[in-house]
Amino acid sequence: ARRDEQNNCYFYESEMEASITRRINMNSDLRTAINESQFELYFQPIVELSNNRIVGAEALIRWKKDNTLIPPYEFIPVAEESGLIVEIGRWVLEKACTECAKWQALGLQGISVAVNLSPVQFKRGNLPNHVFRALQKNHLDPSLLELEITESLFIDDTETIEKQIHIMVQKGVYFAIDDFGTGYSNLNYLSKFNASTLKIDMSFVRHMKTTPQLEHIVNAIIKMSHAMDLENVAEGVEDAETAAALKEKGCAYGQGYYWSKPLPADDFVAFVQAHNKI
Ligand code: C2E
Ligand code: CA
Ligand code: CA
Ligand code: CA
Repeated sequence: ARRDEQNNCYFYESEMEASITRRINMNSDLRTAINESQFELYFQPIVELSNNRIVGAEALIRWKKDNTLIPPYEFIPVAEESGLIVEIGRWVLEKACTECAKWQALGLQGISVAVNLSPVQFKRGNLPNHVFRALQKNHLDPSLLELEITESLFIDDTETIEKQIHIMVQKGVYFAIDDFGTGYSNLNYLSKFNASTLKIDMSFVRHMKTTPQLEHIVNAIIKMSHAMDLENVAEGVEDAETAAALKEKGCAYGQGYYWSKPLPADDFVAFVQAHNKI
């Protein structure tokens, strides 16, 4: 039995070592990815449900490593832990603003861009400065940029975060609460932080047409957003039936595979031109 225990212990340690080694390797690969520009930014349309027009896009990062696309859930957590997300996040902000400025010049006026922020970006580095620099460099109107934050941001250190958000809101940048309903259950933060939009999490939206409980949650979030004078976006809309149901419930915007998957920048422009008949 003792030998078993030792063996178990041995296997456990070697697994831990392997996982640490994987993380170290991934971090050095991420460093290379930054230096060699291996990241790409994809764009997923956001549609106004009342008239079916594309009004904006969410920017979503992709890592193209040796011809394979590594999804963000595999490397964002590692980049957050090591702090590399600060540098990656700056690149995302600049690239998103550059593309959005191009859209305006191409006649896609008013199409805005939404960028995901990691809590780490608020805790290290000077986020408002980087946001303003990205806007100025591209001569982009701040109202065309929406920053997506998650409820996890409001767990601690809220004072410095509140300050930073306030500075950016004052300049005209918009904020959205991403994955709304999945995180922190204390809703006090909603009145304290100047968010303008709730993004209803995909986990509620995707199967709402077959699961009454999920539909009830979506109804409640839509009602709450109306009561609090917030915009709302439903994520993970995968079919026409769900889009129609959301519109009927008073949801303003939708995003999901029903309209389009996230697209490379050039494909996004072509998609909007065809869809909005520009
Ligand atoms: P998210 O912000 O909640 O982004 C929405 C995710 O849902 C995206 O996954 C998108 O491709 C996917 N999606 C959109 N519509 C549908 C649909 O109809 N059905 C289904 N099944 N999925 C849909 P993606 O691109 O893999 O991104 C995953 C997460 O990675 C994002 O979740 C976000 O938290 C994070 N992420 C992506 N880009 C960035 C970034 O630039 N910075 C940071 N900090 N995080 C990012
Ligand atoms: Ca998001
Ligand atoms: Ca989301
Ligand atoms: Ca999510």
